[in-house]
Amino acid sequence: MSANTLPRIAVLGTGGTIAGAGISSTQYSGYRAAVSGVDQLLAAIPALQDVASLECEQVAQVASQNIGSATLLHLARRVNYWLNEMDCAGVIVTLGTNALEETAYFLNLVVKSRKTVVVTGAMRPSTSLSADGPMNLYRAVVAAASPLTAGLGVLVVMNDQVIAARDVHKMDTMTVDSFKAPVFGILGWVLDKQVRLYKKPARVHTDDTEFDTSQMDTLPRVDIVMGYQDDSGVAVSALVNAGAQGLVVAGAGTASLSDAMAEAVSAAVRSGVVVVRAPRSATGIVMKNIEFDDSMHGTVAGDTLSPVKAKVLLALALAHGKSAEEVQSAFDRY
Ligand code: ASP
Repeated sequence: MSANTLPRIAVLGTGGTIAGAGISSTQYSGYRAAVSGVDQLLAAIPALQDVASLECEQVAQVASQNIGSATLLHLARRVNYWLNEMDCAGVIVTLGTNALEETAYFLNLVVKSRKTVVVTGAMRPSTSLSADGPMNLYRAVVAAASPLTAGLGVLVVMNDQVIAARDVHKMDTMTVDSFKAPVFGILGWVLDKQVRLYKKPARVHTDDTEFDTSQMDTLPRVDIVMGYQDDSGVAVSALVNAGAQGLVVAGAGTASLSDAMAEAVSAAVRSGVVVVRAPRSATGIVMKNIEFDDSMHGTVAGDTLSPVKAKVLLALALAHGKSAEEVQSAFDRY
């Protein structure tokens, strides 16, 4: 294909390890994240010229745990802007991997398009031996340029695999094969210039959601609390006093709560805070009224969302004025 018949793809940079730099090629920890611009990342991969006609925009330059509501909302607006460009086939977002899961899931709920959105990052800084960023970015462009990936919601392409944003978990703090879909499995692979997919996400996403963040400049405050043996519930009351509008409680097993935590949660609910129970375990489902009386306590069962993804959905639901019952329906749907 000649350059002007190649699909036009926008690559939005936000920082992270993919843009990170160490002091030597063997430094793999303790490097600085978010150093190189997205234009430099693309310039380092000449093979991309045969795959797509690329545009780029630096939306942020941070480590992903520092992406707050304002940046998240700005990023969503920029993704939607590019997707609205008639001749733009898809968007790629380069992200830090630390909090990639929740950013990808947020975009999965607020992007208003059936065009492809791919998120990628790196576990090794760009200066390291066998840096994984260039190949991840190359694969992300191949995925975004393929018509096969349209309409599947936001996709994460890491380590050759294509994973739905709702399903992706960062399983390991350091290794290049950290991103997996432990419950529902990966959707497929990008192998050289080929995308091979085997299934589709079933939960509602992108332009089928009711969420519209285009006019928002902040999201309601939602905090996460861990449940554990001998917990006191004090953290719940403190967060409510600090202004939390929603809470996710990561409870043991099927998000069971200790008596002290249950009491604190009930008080929070009575004061108007919406509380979602999510699993402390790495995977699994939390169902309404199973091992905990949600009807009595006024709590919401978080289905299969991890605590960090439950936080995203709860914040969006609260931003749209939903009651606890409506939040439960959102967790049953998204
Ligand atoms: N170490 C992180 C990463 O893997 C930094 C970040 O999340 O921004 O990208």
